Formats: sequence, C-alpha cells, structure tokens
Amino acid sequence: MKKIAIIGGGASGLMVANYLSRNKVDAKITIFERNKGLGRKVLASGNGKCNFMNYKALPFDYNNYDFIKKIFSNYPVDTILNYFQTLGLMFKFDSEGRMYPISDSSETILNLLTADLKNIEIRLNETVIDLKNKEDKLILNNNEVFDYVVIASGSNASIDLKKTKSTYEYLKNLNLKFKNPLPGLVGFKVKNNIKELSGFRTKAMVNLYMEDNIVKREFGEVIFKDDGISGICVMDLSRYFEKGLEFSIGLNMLQAKTELVESMTLRKKQNPDPNYYLAGAFHPKMIKYLIKQGITDIEKAADLMQNFRLEIEDVYGMEFAQIALGGISVDEIDDKFSLIKYPNIMVSGEVLDIDGKCGGYNLLFAFLSGYIVAKALEEKINEISDM
Ligand SMILES: Cc1cc2nc3c(=O)[nH]c(=O)nc-3n(C[C@H](O)[C@H](O)[C@H](O)COP(=O)(O)OP(=O)(O)OC[C@H]3O[C@@H](n4cnc5c(N)ncnc54)[C@H](O)[C@@H]3O)c2cc1C
Repeated sequence: MKKIAIIGGGASGLMVANYLSRNKVDAKITIFERNKGLGRKVLASGNGKCNFMNYKALPFDYNNYDFIKKIFSNYPVDTILNYFQTLGLMFKFDSEGRMYPISDSSETILNLLTADLKNIEIRLNETVIDLKNKEDKLILNNNEVFDYVVIASGSNASIDLKKTKSTYEYLKNLNLKFKNPLPGLVGFKVKNNIKELSGFRTKAMVNLYMEDNIVKREFGEVIFKDDGISGICVMDLSRYFEKGLEFSIGLNMLQAKTELVESMTLRKKQNPDPNYYLAGAFHPKMIKYLIKQGITDIEKAADLMQNFRLEIEDVYGMEFAQIALGGISVDEIDDKFSLIKYPNIMVSGEVLDIDGKCGGYNLLFAFLSGYIVAKALEEKINEISDM
C-alpha cells in the first residue's frame, strides 16, 4: 500500500486528508502537525466565526493572476462550497460575498473536516524538520520513507518566531525557487504621534499613496492603535506597501462637511471652548487629539477629517499578520500542484507564493488547492491499482 505524508494539519492539509478518507483512497496516510491540535488558524479565522470562502472571488483578487486564472477556470469557486455542502455545512453570506458557517463558529468547519478522518494517523506535536528526495523515495526526518508527500505547512504569519522555528526550514534540501515571505494582511505602523486616538474606530475612505499618487483605495472600518492603524480595509492595502518607498495614508472620515461646520459654528457662539463646540460632531478621542495638535479652527478641523494624512513607517511584524506574502514560487508547480522537479511531492495552501484579499480569499485558496492535490493523489493511486 502506498504511503502518503501530509505535512501540516491546517486548512489545506485537512482538506487533503478529508477528501482521501471520504473517497476511500487506498493508501496509508499520516498527518504531521507540530501543534498540539489541528487547525489553529482555521479556529482563529474570521474572529472565531471562520470566513471560510468568498463566493465573489476572482483571479485579480490574488497575486499571480495568470496562475489563479488557470486554476479557477478548471475548478470554479463553487467547488469548495459544494464540497462543504456534501459534508453537511449550513452556511450564510454577506453582501461582500464572505461566507460563514450558520453556527457562527469556526469549530464547525474544523469538526466537519476532521470528523471523517478514518484510518488516518494523526501525529500531533510532531514537527517535520527535514524532507529529502532520494531515488524516487521521499524521506522525512531522516528516517521515514513515503511514496507521496503533501507540503501543506502554511506560513510564518501569526507565529512568534522567537518561540517557533520558521515554517519553511525543512524545505531547504529541495532547493526550490522561493520568494522571501513578508507580513501580509496586517496593519500599518505610522510615524505620526496618534496615541490619543488609540482605540478609536471609524468608517473611512482610505487612500494609500506612494509619494503623491494614489496606489489603491478601500472603504471600511479603520481601527487606531498606539502607533498605527488596522482594520480589514487597511490590511487589504498592506499588500501594496513596499519598504524603502515613501508611502502614506489619507483618510476621509467625513462626508457632509458643510452641515458639520454650520452646526459647530452655532455651538461656538454659545461657548468658545473647543471641548464644548467640537463635542457635537467628533469622537472624544479625536477632540483630545485635535486640541493637542492645536487644531481648534472649525474649518481646519473639518478639512483634516477629510484628509487625515498618516506617514507610514512600516507594516507590523509577521506575528501580527494574517498571511505571508511570498513562499514557494508557482513556477515550481504544475496545475495540479505537483512539484515539477519532484512530481510525487505536492504543495498546497499558503506555503505557496499565492495571497489573496481579506475576506475568505485565503482559506478559499487553501481549501481549493488542497482539494486539487487530493484529487490528483486519488488519480495517481487509482492508476497504480488499475495496473
Ligand atoms: C488570525 C487569523 C485570522 C484569519 N482569518 C481568515 C479568514 O477569516 N478568512 C480567510 O480566508 N483567511 C483567514 N486567515 C488566513 C488563513 O487562516 C490561512 O490563509 C490558511 O489557514 C492557510 O491554510 P494552510 O493550510 O496553508 O496553512 P495553516 O492553516 O497555517 O496550516 C499549516 C499547518 O502546518 C503546521 N506546520 C507548519 N510547519 C510544520 C512542520 N514543519 N511540521 C509539522 N507541521 C507543521 C502548522 O502548525 C499548521 O497547523 C486568517 C489568519 C489568521 C492568522
């Protein structure tokens, strides 16, 4: 019987295992997972609600457009929805196409993926530290031999690298083309002093500028921190940031300026203290900030709300990122996610240099690539048993 090792019991690895188990593929399958439990990031996703896919996903929502276009034309987004429906998932979605289990719990997704893992050996707390290809045999940790290996070990995102070894370390013997991973879907650290605004949340039109040119625009909730900003729309913009270049953010937090100015001017006639006249329109944290900056003129304060500029110092570190930008190059794989150099090694999920927007796009890719890998493995193993 052929032996399959799945490295990583996360979104993608569990999709591979679930498919192979449900389709009774005749192989001895082992999952290696370095954590004490399966699916840590699946559980953390969507604030514990698991935004498991986005039905509006299109190739241009990802980097490596040409590769994703080819994948989506062979396997449309519905493939994953249909798969979860066969597992019994009841789901809901919002106007942005973000899909969630109706239970509002990411445990539902993890439970559905793990409930049917019959005859699969799950080795928790077991880290793969080495993978070699020797004469068509794949050797793990220098002592175990497998016929097929699935690399589904994700990225360094949301990991404290002071405590955990880099996810990519065991891949070095394969000599693959690799794009150095950077934090993705993460907030911006800014140069401005915005301590007074820490904890303030507001809806805004957010422009990302490189020098004075708008690179990209998003609308959504912005969350102010001690030294930077975050929120879904900000995280989406972080994909366009490049260190060493001059980037800034412009927030428009105000739509109806005239009304606001008129109302505050009336209040100012009643009491000239800015704490009083600004109070009708602005958040208390913003008032504190404006006063500290000496911006108490009503017109100027309103103008600032329409173009609140923040100079970007950097993005926050990998431990705060939802995904990594970079990983194994797509030039190394075919359209069934097998390595071209070593066809019995397959790669799925975030370990690849594929990243998508915030909102279900990355789990969708992890699940879809896992599904394609599992189907390819099924074909390979069925071909051998037919011979
Ligand atoms: C806080 C947070 C919220 C998120 N929310 C969303 C969301 O709502 N929607 C969305 O689409 N995406 C979301 N993401 C991103 C999404 O979770 C990932 O893109 C997705 O989990 C990637 O799947 P994967 O299987 O490739 O990797 P993972 O799910 O990370 O799984 C990889 C597994 O491999 C294990 N592993 C790594 N190295 C080794 C080794 N050497 N030996 C053994 N095991 C190893 C890891 O411990 C891990 O369990 C979120 C991410 C974070 C951090």
